[in-house]
Amino acid sequence: MNWQTFDLNIPDVASATDEELEALFPELDGRWSRQTHALIKAHGATGLDLDQNWAGVPQWWACPCCLRAKVELVRMNTNGVLMAHLHEHHDHIHEYMAHRLQARYGKEWPRGIPPGTYELEHSGSVMIERFQRTLVCEECNTADAEAKSRSSRIDAYFSFRLGEIASFIKPHPNRKHDVDADQAQEIWETERSDFQQRIALADHLLEHIHQGAITRERTRGVPGWPFSYDAMAHQALMRADGAYDAIGVARDALVNRSIARDGVGASRPRTDKAGPRPTPQEVAAHDGGQYPANWVLAGPDWRCAACDRDRADILRRSRKSGRRWSGDIRPHTTYLYGPCPTSCQADAVVVAHESRFICDCCASLLGWLRSQEAGAAPRALGLTLEDMRLCSDAGPNRQHIPDLERLRTAAAAAEKVAPSITAYHGRLAVAIAPRQTYHYFLGRKPGDWAFAWREVVGRYGRMSQGETLDAARDRMRTLTSLADRLAPLDSGPTPLPSPQGSPSAEAIRAFSADVLPRINWG
Ligand SMILES: [Zn+2]
Ligand SMILES: [Zn+2]
Ligand SMILES: [Zn+2]
Repeated sequence: MNWQTFDLNIPDVASATDEELEALFPELDGRWSRQTHALIKAHGATGLDLDQNWAGVPQWWACPCCLRAKVELVRMNTNGVLMAHLHEHHDHIHEYMAHRLQARYGKEWPRGIPPGTYELEHSGSVMIERFQRTLVCEECNTADAEAKSRSSRIDAYFSFRLGEIASFIKPHPNRKHDVDADQAQEIWETERSDFQQRIALADHLLEHIHQGAITRERTRGVPGWPFSYDAMAHQALMRADGAYDAIGVARDALVNRSIARDGVGASRPRTDKAGPRPTPQEVAAHDGGQYPANWVLAGPDWRCAACDRDRADILRRSRKSGRRWSGDIRPHTTYLYGPCPTSCQADAVVVAHESRFICDCCASLLGWLRSQEAGAAPRALGLTLEDMRLCSDAGPNRQHIPDLERLRTAAAAAEKVAPSITAYHGRLAVAIAPRQTYHYFLGRKPGDWAFAWREVVGRYGRMSQGETLDAARDRMRTLTSLADRLAPLDSGPTPLPSPQGSPSAEAIRAFSADVLPRINWG
């Protein structure tokens, strides 16, 4: 067959000038845009804090609520930093059903509710909303909150629509809106019965959930349109050596090059003084923050794999109202290096990975560096445990104090090994695919390993390209044992037929039980 060959040009964002970026991305904005430069100058700002929402819409964007243009939206903070932020305004009634379910079934309510009822919460929460989520300016978002905080009678789950906010604010260029709380209160009075109908509907749906009624069964779904342009483009890019990754890198670099974060970090210096310490009861009762399951999984004797602090050590007094402690346990992947299995020129490639639990302070070191230096190590996938130890001063019941110089060095090293890690995950995916397919066919005809094995060899074998059946079988066995070694299943090694014999019925049963389609409600 013949191929068509094209030149593919992917911009190296890091080496582009501001003017070049402006020409390349006329519908985006960032710290590189002419408008941003002009605004910094006009306001005599000493710094800039520009978020991703701002960078993602054109320079000519205007707030759909107060109708102010971007030049009227920027605001100076007290440190002389120019703030360029936009917010997603949403109807807080959306959270109502989830909160009720959480109160009744706990943090893990999606697993706790009767099977098949998740859909009611999911669709119900959207159905009761008064408006679709939308991007607004920071002042309009704040005006919604201010109107509610100034009137104790407005329900906490009520949010104002764009037109409603517009009717009770008086906008000014480059500063806060004046909020007419009486007018806001009047809108609430008018909308109150409509709001209450929505809550009544939600309560009605919640009753059905509790009773396990009106369920919707989950299936494998229908495969997406396989002949899509994107699918073809994806394949072509994967074939062009390195192009696929290069586009990902260019995209991340563009985000980093567009945003600016002079407003954070500087305001909150970290101290090496230990904060208050939780009691053992408080440690046991902690909900695990953002990662509740890990808090339970890690168990009472857990210590951070990087800084060696225990569960009591990592908790800090929370700054959020209504929360006493903050701190959580996160998964971290470490990589083992070895000689390249395909004898390429690289001295060391990733040959295995391991999952460990680390504390949130260690996990956020790279994020902290990026918050200090927009554009730092955009490709780096993570630091090593050793780097985390060396790059920060850790102590009980407080945030780590990062060492900026060492972090820079570690991040640069992490950036260097990123392609090796990506390549490893690519090899792992190739090894896991036939194992998953074996499972799939075992599910179609439970216990019939001979059928499943035939399907795997027939589908992944390259007989049409001259591979013999025996070579294909060997290759499938090699890939599967690689998958079993690198990403083991609880049930142990995959029972495949070998030249020596067929797998035992028990082995097949255990294997099937391990990967029978588990429904992920999250
Ligand atoms: Zn606005
Ligand atoms: Zn909002
Ligand atoms: Zn740690």
